[in-house]
Amino acid sequence: MIAEIVAIGSEMLTPHRQDTNSLFLTGRLNELGISVAFKTVVGDNLAHLISAARTAIGRTDLTIFMGGLGPTKDDLTREAVAAALGIELKRDHNLVTEMYKRFAERRIHMPENNAQQADVLEGAVVLTNTKGTAPGQWLEARFESKPRIIALLPGPPHEIHTMWETECAPRLRDKVPPAAIASRTLKVAMMGESAVDLRAAPIYQKHSKVETTVLAGQGQVEFHLRATAATKDEAQAEVDQLAGELEDELDDAVFSSQGESLEEIVNYYLQMRNAKLAVAESCTGGMIAERITSVAGSSRSFLGGAVVYSNELKTLFADIPPAMIEQHGAVSKEVAVALADNIRELCNADIGVGVTGIAGPGGGSEEKPVGLVYIAVSNGHKHDVVQRRFFGDRERVRRWASQQALDMVRKMLM
Ligand code: ATP
Ligand code: MG
Repeated sequence: MIAEIVAIGSEMLTPHRQDTNSLFLTGRLNELGISVAFKTVVGDNLAHLISAARTAIGRTDLTIFMGGLGPTKDDLTREAVAAALGIELKRDHNLVTEMYKRFAERRIHMPENNAQQADVLEGAVVLTNTKGTAPGQWLEARFESKPRIIALLPGPPHEIHTMWETECAPRLRDKVPPAAIASRTLKVAMMGESAVDLRAAPIYQKHSKVETTVLAGQGQVEFHLRATAATKDEAQAEVDQLAGELEDELDDAVFSSQGESLEEIVNYYLQMRNAKLAVAESCTGGMIAERITSVAGSSRSFLGGAVVYSNELKTLFADIPPAMIEQHGAVSKEVAVALADNIRELCNADIGVGVTGIAGPGGGSEEKPVGLVYIAVSNGHKHDVVQRRFFGDRERVRRWASQQALDMVRKMLM
């Protein structure tokens, strides 16, 4: 079964508001084994709504309309869906009475236009709204001689959430064969998207039962794997098989096989090896420490360190000899290694990290361009140091540098 979600409201066609309900609905539909084939956002315009409704109902088994069920003139969903299906709206007098009662309880006079919320599509079931006044509707009908399910749901997020759980999900469960979904996320660090995909695509393309989405950004490439099958075990086996093959191919570039973040993995390795970490950060300005400490339990392995942005503080907090800075420059391999070695010793840590670079946009030169970063990791016996040139704005350079540093710590602990 495939579905289309139609979000209704002109505000969602402005830069100020976004349709977030469909994210919630997509998650819930997927759990039932229903995939969302289309999402549409339409303004409060009758002609546009009718057109969107016809298209959606014509091309999917299940169409969920949300929003535009209120009492005002621009709440046109009911009217539009009725027109698209060529059926009538019937005022449900029991609903009108209930509305009057609700207003009376609160001692307010019910405005006349509220009654339009009781206009029900011919043949539809009314869905109770326990969180608001606009009731939803559920219609099973034929459109162009095909069986269709149509739901009209309110726009306010807390209303749609409740109505979905109590009224919609149980109805759908009866309609779809029991389907189980398994998913897994694999993450690869510090490889370009195309380089990763070149090696991965021949593998995931062979697994037609697993839906693979590749997402890239911030120094990592993610594979989101998802399979639907009759049982959970079957779906899981499909996903695990593909995940295993991808891991074999990409080897230790894969840092996460269950969706964990790089900082979580680094913390995990530190604890496993019973190792303590300290950092001396120049251009990342504490970002590495920030990422490490965002993980609960990091106090067991992360000691701290220093943000050594100025040359003076590189000397004061990380013992970098002024002569070394003089000779090689603050942004140099030598300084990065010394930062890692010295902070490790000063903090009595097992592993030290040193980062120095030019985040930009200013400060670059022919010899040392913007984006040039040296990253070093030391464990007292050996050190790894890399020179990287990152492209993009300041935030991107800093993020990639922190990613590189965390990945080097991970590799040193493997
Ligand atoms: P009512 O008018 O009775 O509140 P309604 O069904 O007419 O209900 P709307 O008026 O369309 O709903 O929207 C009510 C609120 O919910 C608005 O603040 C709107 O921005 C928000 N909303 C509507 N649709 C969505 C959506 N798809 N995602 C997130 N917020 C939404
Ligand atoms: Mg409205």
